[in-house]
Amino acid sequence: MRCFYAPETRAHDPQFRLTHGRVVTNAERAERATLLQEGLGRLGLTTETPPEAPRAALEAVHTARFLDFLETGWQAWQKLPNAGPEVVPNAFPRVPYASYPEAVTARAGWHMSDTSAPIGPESWTATRRAADCGVAAARAVAEGAPAAYALCRPPGHHTTADAAGGHCLLNVSAIAAAELRQHHDRIAILDIDVHHGNGTQDIFYDRADVLTVSMHAETHDYYPFFTGYAHETGTGAGTGYNLNLPLPRSTRDAGWLQALDRALERISDYAPEALVLSLGLDAHENDPLDGMKVSFDGFAEAGRRIAAAGYPVVIVQEGGYLSPDLSTSLASFLGGFLGKDTGAA
Ligand SMILES: [Zn+2]
Repeated sequence: MRCFYAPETRAHDPQFRLTHGRVVTNAERAERATLLQEGLGRLGLTTETPPEAPRAALEAVHTARFLDFLETGWQAWQKLPNAGPEVVPNAFPRVPYASYPEAVTARAGWHMSDTSAPIGPESWTATRRAADCGVAAARAVAEGAPAAYALCRPPGHHTTADAAGGHCLLNVSAIAAAELRQHHDRIAILDIDVHHGNGTQDIFYDRADVLTVSMHAETHDYYPFFTGYAHETGTGAGTGYNLNLPLPRSTRDAGWLQALDRALERISDYAPEALVLSLGLDAHENDPLDGMKVSFDGFAEAGRRIAAAGYPVVIVQEGGYLSPDLSTSLASFLGGFLGKDTGAA
């Protein structure tokens, strides 16, 4: 399987994070890439560097002003008096009649839905290169590869067309789906990250040509809090083309795999020509974000079931945070998917 990784993505190494009223270390650190690469290595998989995708590939999903903000926001921020090292918003538009502001402090709040995706000097380059990985993987699959994997960070599934959030900058899964749409009429996105894929849902919420399915920890007390409920089924032409499968935080392998079967059933009814898999590994029982209780065996079985569904698959890395188990989680999932021994304990 072809795997794509761009070393420039390491230069995005956010520091700031606000949790429960305390400033703590950001969980989406560059070291994640090392752990994920280790996971690939256990299966004998190596990565190739993707070519640069045109800006049009990003504009298929994101607004031009959001892309401009990501590209130039940090430089403008540095001109503020007593500026911090990263762009972190502290005021947010709360009304539908809000006006698009001029000041970078205000634009930060417009284009970032929370404080957990700080932008540093190299974040634009990093997230663009992450998107390049997603586009390259989508093109490989469009050209006939049964599957391809994009090792991208920062992740993307919490980002809407116009606003980043939740450790995510560009929405790579959505960008990959848009790329596949150039070759196919119907695409499905399956999001198995422990968090609701709210950004991806929002981008395709009124469309029937991209089915979005997300299985995740219940959001009434877990990020992203305000969406992720079963009653969110789409709007307009997209009515019936979004499926949310919220699960209790106590969910272990059996319940998680049962939800996966429901997700695959809905996808089978839709009969997509290709699948984008938003592969978060943070449902693991030892993940520091403490979402659910899936084991390595659970991930391996999920890989087997998704492979057995038989769709051409673009696998896009989403969450899964700093823990020595992250490598094994990836090796377990891909090992199951590829029918290879994972070397997991
Ligand atoms: Zn997540």
